[in-house]
Amino acid sequence: MEKWDGSAGTSAFHMPEWMIQFADQKQEFNKRPTKISRRSLSRSISQSSTDSYSSAASYTDSSDDETSPRDKQQKNSKGSSDFCVKNIKQAEFGRREIEIAEQEMPALMALRKRAQGEKPLAGAKIVGCTHITAQTAVLMETLGALGAQCRWAACNIYSTLNEVAAALAESGFPVFAWKGESEDDFWWCIDRCVNVEGWQPNMILDDGGDLTHWIYKKYPNMFKKIKGIVEESVTGVHRLYQLSKAGKLCVPAMNVNDSVTKQKFDNLYCCRESILDGLKRTTDMMFGGKQVVVCGYGEVGKGCCAALKAMGSIVYVTEIDPICALQACMDGFRLVKLNEVIRQVDIVITCTGNKNVVTREHLDRMKNSCIVCNMGHSNTEIDVASLRTPELTWERVRSQVDHVIWPDGKRIVLLAEGRLLNLSCSTVPTFVLSITATTQALALIELYNAPEGRYKQDVYLLPKKMDEYVASLHLPTFDAHLTELTDEQAKYLGLNKNGPFKPNYYRCWLGAACSSLGGGGGGDTAAYICACVRISSKLSV
Ligand code: NAD
Repeated sequence: MEKWDGSAGTSAFHMPEWMIQFADQKQEFNKRPTKISRRSLSRSISQSSTDSYSSAASYTDSSDDETSPRDKQQKNSKGSSDFCVKNIKQAEFGRREIEIAEQEMPALMALRKRAQGEKPLAGAKIVGCTHITAQTAVLMETLGALGAQCRWAACNIYSTLNEVAAALAESGFPVFAWKGESEDDFWWCIDRCVNVEGWQPNMILDDGGDLTHWIYKKYPNMFKKIKGIVEESVTGVHRLYQLSKAGKLCVPAMNVNDSVTKQKFDNLYCCRESILDGLKRTTDMMFGGKQVVVCGYGEVGKGCCAALKAMGSIVYVTEIDPICALQACMDGFRLVKLNEVIRQVDIVITCTGNKNVVTREHLDRMKNSCIVCNMGHSNTEIDVASLRTPELTWERVRSQVDHVIWPDGKRIVLLAEGRLLNLSCSTVPTFVLSITATTQALALIELYNAPEGRYKQDVYLLPKKMDEYVASLHLPTFDAHLTELTDEQAKYLGLNKNGPFKPNYYRCWLGAACSSLGGGGGGDTAAYICACVRISSKLSV
């Protein structure tokens, strides 16, 4: 049986030839430029584990059981106790959640189908640290179907869906996670995943870098057997680049965060859908005619602006980058300084990845009932700490909704205490997560099967063809019919008929503008413009 390493140019998985000829690709091309992006990246280990992602989807945990899962003796129906979850009896609820998620994760289900008889991850021992949600469960079970053994912990102390963790434990996955872990529990769970007799991981799937950090700190010898790290988050990727720069990265790593399939879909489309959901669930507000200011017109900002504009809101944008600012103008938004509109707007949304974008001075000037929230990764964009002063009264009016009241009676509505609104107060579209999860699965397969020497001890972007493959696996959902290049056209454009269709540095930062130029990111002009924007606005920072 052929190994799924792409070396033969065909695959027993019958993946298209274009997808697996990675050996042809120049790996230097895949490496992300070593310059770090502008986003605020200086988060500490503990901060990354405690940033609240408390998912609104965790609705069933009505048990009043205060006993720590660490003190409970639990077994699944097969008698295994190699897990630690809140309550194994919730497994059936969790299974239903997983089955619902499967409906919206077509690519992972397609990979599973292809895996029948084929096990590209046979022998892989994957230790994972991600949000434990129904979507992650679909990923884990897919990895299992592809032949891997998995042990898993949560990357965030609030985001675990207890039912889902129970369902995974019931079906035999050693899962160590529950919602509301303490900082000590968090590291204990990670340790239980790696420090186990008779089992040693050979692959890492991380979201935030905490697991990788733990292994570096406590079990550095494990890296002798580890073939690679797949990392999803901005923070984790930053840490990997730091290790690489210091010459301390001892295995190859895949940066999934900067895959086109993550950036384009997770940031733009996910936020376009979930901003309204998060606002609606917390405030029941009507959007039509409301004045909104969105700080930052990157991917997330574009998604938020598009959604609010479609609902009839009057949208203002603030930006520091003239290119993104011009995009906002061309998309029909008024570009302003926050000071200019702060007195009149009904909603303020931050999505810059920066800090102190909304200051106490802004908060003081907002009108009564103004809603303030953040869609960026860290809770640093709104200076919430400045509101914790004696003259202001805080009133918790709903879960994740605080009224902060000034001495004159003015109140502002602060959502999720300035943490990520959509992940804190609503659910995130499963289909978007499917795209990211499929990218993670393929990155694991690629690193695990890559022949010696293909990847060095460095950080890589997933080969472009794989990005394209991930997208193609999701097209059947829409009954979408992709046009194939003719031989003549391929020659004219200097492309292989089977891709890759864009250079690796290509990103569609233009969002909506790009679709109108090139039909959803295609098109020569769009590609050219996108590449130019990418180079000038992102790489030159
Ligand atoms: P991006 O870099 O594409 O966009 C951020 C924009 O903010 C940039 O254009 C930048 O010029 C602008 N900016 C920076 N400082 C500013 C300031 N003081 N005032 C106004 N504009 C400013 O990044 P992105 O992909 O849009 O992500 C933004 C943030 O959202 C990041 O923290 C990211 O991790 C996070 N994120 C959130 C979700 C979610 O589901 N909520 C999804 C993906 C990413």
